[in-house]
Amino acid sequence: MEGEDKEELQKTGKEGGEENSRKREVEECCYLCRRPESAAGKLIQLPQNIRVCRECLQKSIDMLESGNNPLFNGMMDPMLFSFGMPPTGNVPPMGGRKRQKAKEEKEKRAQAAAKEERSAPTRVPAPHRMKEQLDEYVIGQEQAKKAVSVAVYNHYKRIRDDGADGVEIEKSNILMLGPTGSGKTYMVQTLAKLLNVPLAVTDATSLTEAGYIGDDVESVLSKLLAAADNDIEKAEMGIVFIDEIDKIAKKRNTNSRDVSGEAVQQGLLKLLEGADVEVPVGATNKNAMVPMTTISTRNILFICGGAFSGLGKVIKERLNKASTIGFSGELKDKYDKEKNILKYATAEDLREFGMIPEFLGRLPVFCTLEDLSRDMLVSILTKPKNAIIKQYKKLFAMDEVELCFEQEALELIAERALEKKTGARALRAILEEFMLDIMYEIPKDETIGRVTITKDYMEHKGAPGIELRSGSVRALIGQNVSGR
Ligand code: ADP
Repeated sequence: MEGEDKEELQKTGKEGGEENSRKREVEECCYLCRRPESAAGKLIQLPQNIRVCRECLQKSIDMLESGNNPLFNGMMDPMLFSFGMPPTGNVPPMGGRKRQKAKEEKEKRAQAAAKEERSAPTRVPAPHRMKEQLDEYVIGQEQAKKAVSVAVYNHYKRIRDDGADGVEIEKSNILMLGPTGSGKTYMVQTLAKLLNVPLAVTDATSLTEAGYIGDDVESVLSKLLAAADNDIEKAEMGIVFIDEIDKIAKKRNTNSRDVSGEAVQQGLLKLLEGADVEVPVGATNKNAMVPMTTISTRNILFICGGAFSGLGKVIKERLNKASTIGFSGELKDKYDKEKNILKYATAEDLREFGMIPEFLGRLPVFCTLEDLSRDMLVSILTKPKNAIIKQYKKLFAMDEVELCFEQEALELIAERALEKKTGARALRAILEEFMLDIMYEIPKDETIGRVTITKDYMEHKGAPGIELRSGSVRALIGQNVSGR
């Protein structure tokens, strides 16, 4: 070494020493928590002149073991870099391969469970349990609830069966006959909710043979796919309800081309039976701009419903003919007064009505819903879990007002609904008409504690009973909420 260089080295060495001792006078801090050594305890020296306190080092190890924390990763990366390790995003959790493997297996199991949950309702209740659950929502219709519970139970059992023994269980698609507003759609909706499967409700009158204006029969599957959030597996285990199926009956005594009738029944055959069908995703019509996917309908439960008005006449004719042949002529009109004549329907009657035999063959389960009586309508108002009256009561309770109905008032609402001949569908509209003024006026007066809807109020002869919070009773005749 040259003399000059030696001198230089001695000089810098001396200066470096001074610098170091000056630095040491300033207290060292933890690289991570920035606490000084006096507060954090003795710091641990890491390569690249990084110092961390014991607490932070322990936390770092714990966090690495428990997986990746993105916030923390950013802080750790320089430290790991100093050890010559890859950044935290690529670091396997400490504890080695075993822990990593266990974690992967756990994830796999969770994924499989999620898939299972998506594909089939995990626990389909036994038919009697399913009916019990339906009872909480659907009033009456005992035979239909029973038939549907058994059919649905068998349907999902069929899905689980691999057919290895060569016995293949047939699909139990359902045909529901019943007057309008008797609860056909409602029953299916309730069922789908209880089973947690997607449901598509469509109207047979909107369906046309492919190529005609209107929706192709496949559009029902697009609706189902949408109801399943575009999850194909989930959609393939769903329920499709086709309402107004009687409107696509073959027109009797006509030779004209039947676009909306027989051809649509023919179109639906392959869906009902089980087929792989190409459907547009996110639209109900096929066109070049819409992506397509394939859905298998093998495990989709199809329920068709209709009022079949006119079928009663066919059934009566058959029954009356049979009784005339079998017994005396006096029994000729035995069934003329039968209210729920649809319960005697047979496949033969439906064929006579205009349903094609192949179509009926793919709907092996028949059930009929009866006309709703006055008492049933009163029960529909008050008993189901989400009964309309319960909903109104809840709205009033939010304002701390108790809402009551006289039994006679409820009966009057039911009678008015009967007159409209639209089943339970009329109830809400009738009630809404009377409740409008009450819902408008009551919140104005904070002293009101209870309102009773009376028959007189409904008949425009008086006012509802009002009870003030203090307990005193007054009738509001001529006041804000007046009997109209
Ligand atoms: P449809 O038989 O024509 O399909 P819906 O099922 O649409 O009739 O019934 C209309 C409404 O009436 C339903 O949303 C439901 O609130 C009520 N409803 C009808 N039938 C019943 C019933 N049996 N029990 C309880 N609610 C019913």
